[in-house]
Amino acid sequence: MPSKTSTLRPLLLLASILLMIAACHRYFGGVTEAVENILTPRTPRQDFAHDSLRSDSGDALVAAWDSAYLRALTDTLRVDLPYRERFRYPASLELSASSVRFYLPPGRQLTATVRPDSSGGPVFGELFAVGDPAVPDARDALLRWSPDRPRITYESDRVGGQELLLVVQTPPGNGSHYELTLQTTPALTFPVADASVRNIQSFWGDSRSGGQRRHEGNDIFAPRGTPLIAVADGRVRSTKTGGLGGKTVWLRDGEGRGLTYYYAHLDSQLVRAGQSVSRGDTIGLVGNTGNARTTPPHLHFGIYRNGARDPYSYLRGPDGEGPTVRYPLQDPPDAVPERGRHYLRYRPDRDRTVVVRELTNTEPITVLGVTERYYRIRTAAGETGFANFD
Ligand SMILES: [Zn+2]
Repeated sequence: MPSKTSTLRPLLLLASILLMIAACHRYFGGVTEAVENILTPRTPRQDFAHDSLRSDSGDALVAAWDSAYLRALTDTLRVDLPYRERFRYPASLELSASSVRFYLPPGRQLTATVRPDSSGGPVFGELFAVGDPAVPDARDALLRWSPDRPRITYESDRVGGQELLLVVQTPPGNGSHYELTLQTTPALTFPVADASVRNIQSFWGDSRSGGQRRHEGNDIFAPRGTPLIAVADGRVRSTKTGGLGGKTVWLRDGEGRGLTYYYAHLDSQLVRAGQSVSRGDTIGLVGNTGNARTTPPHLHFGIYRNGARDPYSYLRGPDGEGPTVRYPLQDPPDAVPERGRHYLRYRPDRDRTVVVRELTNTEPITVLGVTERYYRIRTAAGETGFANFD
């Protein structure tokens, strides 16, 4: 006959096992978290969620903040560079993150900056490559800025440039205004002193030798003897005399691009093979040697990496200011106007845009930002897009 202790013993054993599991779970939970931190350090926005948001507001708010961020990775809008948008975040956590998708051409250095107004709190920014996969993985950010310096610079090394997505997030309930700007500058220093792309008279792909070949570079016209400039830090691979190019210099990029630069028709070379040069150094003088002897002096400039590339976007000057913000963000509308036909658009552009749908007059909306004459809005159904109410 079983004693009282023998029936209690399995229960006690079970209880102690459950306690151990609970303790182990907590213990291993902590270890897992610690190991994750060693393997993948927390991002600035995870740091903020962990250190500030959770202690002030608890896990539920952190989860809502995270889901707003994940939604912004998927639910994005298309813009062109240069770009400018003023935005604000209403009290709703769901609206605390937004994103833009854009194309960065090869040879351009992107600068993305967010400036908060005087009352603005921290702002988080992360840059992703998009395309494959179509929706980026949150762990695969190319760059993240530190919230005390909300600025990213990035240059793509892809031949065809790159599709990028920038996610911006601010703390919940922060009613401040912010201004986002995206601008590009040329990756290279211009190769002819006191000249610019305005001095280019023959472009990539122009017909050569009666259509037998295509022009694999840009011709930059300048007076004979004008200094030719190293477009980047690098090393002179070779200097040659003769053939179509006449006096030439091949310069190997030393800034990590894997490119080689070709300077042709020089009056004279001022460097020798193997020599290191710094961006901005004079490496030769403009002339018309080689097959340019019947044309005015100019530099034929080429860029090579697994074949020739069009140098133009590497040389074009800095972007302009970007669109002017023409609608005030104070007291924006909370509904579609009563009159006129208005559309929800995928990009802030009347002509080239994809229309998501026609909006209904007086339909309620939330304004999230403004660029040029377009509001970035969220509809009651949760759609995001640009709308013009003129
Ligand atoms: Zn040429």
